[in-house]
Amino acid sequence: MSQHSPAAAPATNFLRQRIEHDLETGAFAGRHFAGSPGDAAHHGAGPLDEARIRTRFPPEPNGYLHIGHAKSICLNFGLARDFGGACHLRFDDTNPEKEELEYVNAIKEMVQWLGWSWGDNLYEASSYFDFMYEAAEALVNAGHAYVDEQSADEMRANRGDFGRPGTNSPFRDRTAEENLARLREMRDGRHADGAMVLRAKIDMASPNINLRDPTLYRIKHAEHHATGGKWCIYPMYTFAHPIEDALERITHSICTLEFEDQRPFYDWLLEHLADLGLLARPLPQQIEFGRLNLNYVVTSKRKLRQLVEDKHVSGWDDPRMPTLVGLRRRGFTPESIRAMVEATGASKQNAWIDDTVLDQALRADLEPQAPRAFAVLQPLKLKLTNYAAVFGSADHREPCETPAHPHKPELGLRRFSLGPELWIEAEDFMEAPVKGYFRLFPGNKVRLKAGYIIECTGAEKDADGNVIAALATVIPDTKSGTPGADAVKVKGTIGWVGAHEAIAAEVRLYERLFAEPQPDVGGRDFIEFLNPNSLRVVQGFVEPSLAGAAADQRWQFERHGYFVTDRVDHRADRPVFNKITGLKDSFGR
Ligand code: ATP
Ligand code: MG
Repeated sequence: MSQHSPAAAPATNFLRQRIEHDLETGAFAGRHFAGSPGDAAHHGAGPLDEARIRTRFPPEPNGYLHIGHAKSICLNFGLARDFGGACHLRFDDTNPEKEELEYVNAIKEMVQWLGWSWGDNLYEASSYFDFMYEAAEALVNAGHAYVDEQSADEMRANRGDFGRPGTNSPFRDRTAEENLARLREMRDGRHADGAMVLRAKIDMASPNINLRDPTLYRIKHAEHHATGGKWCIYPMYTFAHPIEDALERITHSICTLEFEDQRPFYDWLLEHLADLGLLARPLPQQIEFGRLNLNYVVTSKRKLRQLVEDKHVSGWDDPRMPTLVGLRRRGFTPESIRAMVEATGASKQNAWIDDTVLDQALRADLEPQAPRAFAVLQPLKLKLTNYAAVFGSADHREPCETPAHPHKPELGLRRFSLGPELWIEAEDFMEAPVKGYFRLFPGNKVRLKAGYIIECTGAEKDADGNVIAALATVIPDTKSGTPGADAVKVKGTIGWVGAHEAIAAEVRLYERLFAEPQPDVGGRDFIEFLNPNSLRVVQGFVEPSLAGAAADQRWQFERHGYFVTDRVDHRADRPVFNKITGLKDSFGR
């Protein structure tokens, strides 16, 4: 919750070392950047020298961001911040039909919520369509690309596989003129979807299948949200992405490991376009790092969508979802998410991190600052049978107080009062105590925290013999903070809320959404591993200091864990709390 500032000294990793090396050797000195990168006028060759690094976060606006994206966001924006560079937010909207404004807005909001700013560097890949097409024609003219009219099946069959080289397409040796004419027909809408594609002419026998004449453009008669009906051919991601990076003068194009085999094509394309005079050197470099995987969490957008659409959760922002909107609603702070990402570093391996790492980061963030409060989540009535005799009247309210935070006097005092009836946690009373139980049982004394010592005298039961209230007597002159407080020794202390001033609240108790650490590994149906107990709603009571609480406020409920007022459903007159996490690892409990 504190102001976002650079971490003291971020631990080094291979990305930082790479950037430090590039800066020392002046790899990007002499690089030019000016105006808006999409400008056909300068295709990257402007008058201004700029030796700073540029990174980018390039989400496809087809879903909500999740914790894996937070990794990429914090890495890219964090490196730019730490090295005095810039990080671009670029919507990768090359695919028509799919993009939705809802996602674009949600992505922007979440990047900001995480504490980052893209400044003036907000881009859309579709704004480069003209340049991309120009680049395609240039490749055709130079003999580096051709239009292939094989069927999709033929193309697949002729691609070969890991052990077998591919076979050249019968269309591979057409002249540049023929290819150019065909490409223009494609562009002009003269052919149906799938009739032909534009391919790079590289090497059908390459051991790297990505270099076996990859597709650059395909026909798709579809409206695009930004360019409307202007185009009926659209660039493939592998063609578009390097060009976007180069036009924006990105220095380090950081992506996840699965793109490693694409790097030779990334370099091939940019080198050829630079040779043709379309792009300026030095060119961006693609660098891969291992994705963030969390145990008990799925992060594929497709699977998250399935959870939402099949109503296994209440929406993208369900507090059990690993989406950033879900984590925010659950109560995680941006600081805790950044700390978790920082702690897990960047490496060349795909790592599986325990989901408790995020909980630990949350506790580390909240423990020093979250105000404390009493909450009773499974309430049992406690009647103080000698109350009127001790305090003179059943209507008397005995004021009590305790610090809002044990180590932060500046947070002040919480005030509440004792009355003849209290709410206590049902588990704080046992009619027949088990060994080692020090809380309420007949004949035992405990302290009501920040209140009096009481002695349990029994219980009230209904006709079926169920306990409906615990009974106790107050021991006079034992109030916390008074000279008599230590006169009677007790082994147990319990939390409580005066029934006369308790605030009724709905409390949503969350557990992991999945009961298996890797629910989607090995082709299994992850839906089978949903945890049936992932949400339990209880009606509890909280202390009066929480009256009028605003939404999205966090407390430590003593003995229970960290809670937040739900940003969607909480009302001052109808409080709703989400459990963020427990006080310590509940792992294995
Ligand atoms: P998904 O698999 O959920 O669909 P994606 O990679 O297709 O994710 P994009 O919107 O294309 O989603 O990704 C934007 C950026 O986020 C990419 O650079 C991608 O590499 C990165 N990213 C996605 N998931 C992770 C992850 N688990 N760890 C690190 N980076 C990730
Ligand atoms: Mg993707």
